[in-house]
Amino acid sequence: MEKIPAVEQYTPPHFARDGKIHVRLTEGFFQNLRRLTSWPLLALFFGLVWIQYDGQALLLFSFAERKLILFGAFFSWYDLPLLTGLMIAGACLLFFMAVAWGRIWCGFACPQSIWTWLFIRIEDITEGRAGMRSRLEGKPMGRGLLLRRVTKHLLWMLFAIFTALTFTGYFIPIRELISAGVSLEMSGTVTGWLAIMAGLTYVNAGLVREKICLHACPYSRFQAVMFDKDTRTVSYDVARGEPRAKRHHADKHSGDCVDCSLCVQVCPVGIDIRDGLQAACIDCAACIDACNNVMEKLDLPTGLIRFASEAQLEQKPSPLMRPRLAGYGTVMIAAFCAVLYGFYNTNDLQVAIRRDRGPLFTQLGEHHICNSYIIKVEGFNPAESIVRVSLYDEGQYELSGPAEINLAENNAAWLSYRVCSQDVRSAISTLTFHFQGNQIFTAKETTFLAKPI
Ligand code: SF4
Ligand code: SF4
Repeated sequence: MEKIPAVEQYTPPHFARDGKIHVRLTEGFFQNLRRLTSWPLLALFFGLVWIQYDGQALLLFSFAERKLILFGAFFSWYDLPLLTGLMIAGACLLFFMAVAWGRIWCGFACPQSIWTWLFIRIEDITEGRAGMRSRLEGKPMGRGLLLRRVTKHLLWMLFAIFTALTFTGYFIPIRELISAGVSLEMSGTVTGWLAIMAGLTYVNAGLVREKICLHACPYSRFQAVMFDKDTRTVSYDVARGEPRAKRHHADKHSGDCVDCSLCVQVCPVGIDIRDGLQAACIDCAACIDACNNVMEKLDLPTGLIRFASEAQLEQKPSPLMRPRLAGYGTVMIAAFCAVLYGFYNTNDLQVAIRRDRGPLFTQLGEHHICNSYIIKVEGFNPAESIVRVSLYDEGQYELSGPAEINLAENNAAWLSYRVCSQDVRSAISTLTFHFQGNQIFTAKETTFLAKPI
């Protein structure tokens, strides 16, 4: 089986005279499919940040208030490991897709690709088609070209700022962010963060583009170990296409490839898929559409470049579902179930109990003992405003301290409590505090001491 080289020999394509890739846009089934995935994802990214439910953002990761809101549900900062779990489950999904269809995530849903295609589209509108852009490179900058270039960069910057604002809106409520910007009251930290985010978007999608996929993205390295002979990935059918020949040089021994180089011109990473499987290929399928258009014009069957496994290209049986894919699928489902279970069992009320400094206990009589504690209650749901504090065994113990905690005033504040018992028989016993909110109840255990330990 042909292995993907860990480090690809990358040669700039011949059509970029200045060494820069000028991607030619194409149309076809897979371009439409990409629009079908990328437009909803873009709409979600730019739209979700504005949606409110019950007066609260639908999705918010608030550093200031140390809380997360995920689709209307509140989570505390202590639930952050669940987000790590979610990322691990997402990585399992990515691995599952990579085993089945290669880098389709990169080609169809990765933000780097979606933004890059958008920026290429803007470039195409402002500076003209790829061929024209390539010819203009290195030419003296006339007024017309200057105007086009300035317009392109302005549009890129505008889109980058819009992206940075939206992204930051998932950490600071977007309405507060915009009104702080309009009234020029934005803090230096937020302004700096916005500038960095906008700059990164502009550089990534406008200037660096495929170099991120080629040199920075670890996913292309992972895929080398995940691919097998049954992975469906964008492939050139060598048996059918070779020997390639220009139309006017073709004879009966020639393959179907007419060496038009369109598959190379549309490639956003500037590779030639006819050279075989390459780590740089992001499975965007632009070359499939370009080649299919050529084949249709030549009245030849489409699919000279297509999603196919190595076994399929060799005309061998190639099942999609196989033990390796089933294994990744099982791990992925288990990971998502574990994270969902974790989210389902989170608590909006976080309680911490510590023994107060000073003596471990106070002896008021032979069996009359008191212990002192400090208690912190932290609420993460605005519906929980008052929390009542009590003891499980109120017949045995007596509680002194605030019976109700108003979370609007004392959220996460340490409050003092004293627990006494007039009939202490053991040196150490378990004491259970109850915390009752409007809808949430939580119990927390601590120890009650009657002898030095
Ligand atoms: S070779 Fe084809 S599928 Fe791979 S990145 Fe280039 S255009 Fe996309
Ligand atoms: S687009 Fe198709 S026909 Fe043209 S060079 Fe590429 S593989 Fe050959």
